[in-house]
Amino acid sequence: MQRRHFLKMGGAGWLAGSGLLRLHPEAGAQEAPARWDVVTEVLIVGFGGAGATAAVTACKHDAEVLVLEESDRGGGITMYAGAAWLPHNPVQEANGYNDSVEEGFEYLWKTTRGQAREEVVRAFVENSYETLSELLDETGLQPGFGVWDDFQPSYPGAKNSRLVRFSCRDYFRRLHESLEARGGRVMTRTRARHLYTDPNGGVVGVRAEGANGENLNIGAGRAVILCAGGFSRNEEMKRSFFRIVPVPSVVSTGGQGDGLLMGMGAGAMLGNMKEYAPEFEGQLEDGRAFRAPYSHPHAILVDRLGRRFINESEDYPTVGTGFYGFDGARDEYRYLPAFVVIDSEGADQTGLSRQEAVIKGDDIKELADRSGIDPSRLSETVDRYNRNIKEGRDPDFLRGVSKGSRGEEPEPLEGPPFYSIRIYPRVLDTMGGLEINGKAQVLNAASGKPIPGLYAAGNNAHQALGFYYQGGGSVGNLMVFGRLAGINAAKRV
Ligand SMILES: Cc1cc2nc3c(=O)[nH]c(=O)nc-3n(C[C@H](O)[C@H](O)[C@H](O)COP(=O)(O)OP(=O)(O)OC[C@H]3O[C@@H](n4cnc5c(N)ncnc54)[C@H](O)[C@@H]3O)c2cc1C
Repeated sequence: MQRRHFLKMGGAGWLAGSGLLRLHPEAGAQEAPARWDVVTEVLIVGFGGAGATAAVTACKHDAEVLVLEESDRGGGITMYAGAAWLPHNPVQEANGYNDSVEEGFEYLWKTTRGQAREEVVRAFVENSYETLSELLDETGLQPGFGVWDDFQPSYPGAKNSRLVRFSCRDYFRRLHESLEARGGRVMTRTRARHLYTDPNGGVVGVRAEGANGENLNIGAGRAVILCAGGFSRNEEMKRSFFRIVPVPSVVSTGGQGDGLLMGMGAGAMLGNMKEYAPEFEGQLEDGRAFRAPYSHPHAILVDRLGRRFINESEDYPTVGTGFYGFDGARDEYRYLPAFVVIDSEGADQTGLSRQEAVIKGDDIKELADRSGIDPSRLSETVDRYNRNIKEGRDPDFLRGVSKGSRGEEPEPLEGPPFYSIRIYPRVLDTMGGLEINGKAQVLNAASGKPIPGLYAAGNNAHQALGFYYQGGGSVGNLMVFGRLAGINAAKRV
């Protein structure tokens, strides 16, 4: 097949025809132009946490670096973060805690439930130590250390010392300063649109739109690294890939999925697209958001039929998995919304009882009626739950008894009045992306082999997270794979 024809079929045209996803019209890769407007050695798309890490690392490895950033300043969703999860890291060691690559791999591999590539999980744990040492040296950050259980403490290889706390805003700012000091350049208000490829399918540059809408063809002598983040705000992509929608993003920046679409346009393989790191939003009757106290000892979480569906004391990624589910008979998502039901003691402690627009009932039946929950089912649920909790057991969801449970001992819901608040899942950030190998090279969907000249890191890539979001895992991964992408892209001559 002629290459030009293949690109037409394999790029934007094919995807549009699938009815799944409409790419912006130019995301399909195109053959390189006769002339470049700008040329560099390593070209990085996106200046968030992963992009800054890759850029500084590539500079350190003697490459000329140019970063394209769509926004005024960069930083991306990374600016909100405050911790990195890294197995076997120097901060643990400095605080007298043991860990090893083997234990880190054993734990993380189990949490992925086989939805990550083994080679990538290994690369993550094998490079955590060196990555954190090097990046702490580079940024001069002094991270906080605290004892914090891995989210699945009963899994083999789990530890309580892998979370490293620092301001990711400071991390980004200091890398930005390093990049400038090392001669790396950043073009802000410049949005990358598609990749350029050579006749062998190797990536050789990017077409971008400059600050005034001008067309810019930028050549990359060594490689392009895609670090444009995830797709937490691309509603069309979420509809294609998530199990439930809508699941809005908690933030109003980034997450457009551009880098994924660009990679797809060049034939890249995707992985783990249905998983995301969840957050939850409570919604009062006047539509205002209120932190939903679903894990409070005096609260339970129920669906609209009044049934519990998850251990409320579990970590937030596990609670997030409870929201998957479609009720075919009723033709609706079963847990959108769900309800937090809480007694007066819990509502007073969390401030919910002081909200005017809260649903309140003198007994469970009245509360259920007012909430639109099945009253007899909710009464049965609360009676059964109270009985079990008083006996110190929860045969339904193991609250307070499963090894993964955290939080205070659960209490029965007894003191009227009772309150309810709707709760909806939200996206902190997506976890799937372009499939990479252990060197952060993007893999071709047809051949499974690396696409020459194309790397990805951060949430633009599917890194070492699979089924389950380990808190801090996104920043840990963007550091490790941002650095690996920077090293390997710079080495490519
Ligand atoms: C409130 C909140 C708290 C969080 N806390 C944590 C935490 O403590 N630990 C943790 O591990 N994770 C946390 N996360 C998730 C984590 O912050 C992100 O998953 C991670 O920082 C993403 O990094 P990134 O570099 O891949 O993307 P981003 O930081 O989003 O960077 C992507 C950059 O690419 C730019 N860009 C996009 N498209 C283009 C284009 N076409 N051309 C040019 N530039 C483009 C964007 O403008 C952006 O600057 C949190 C998320 C939120 C919302």
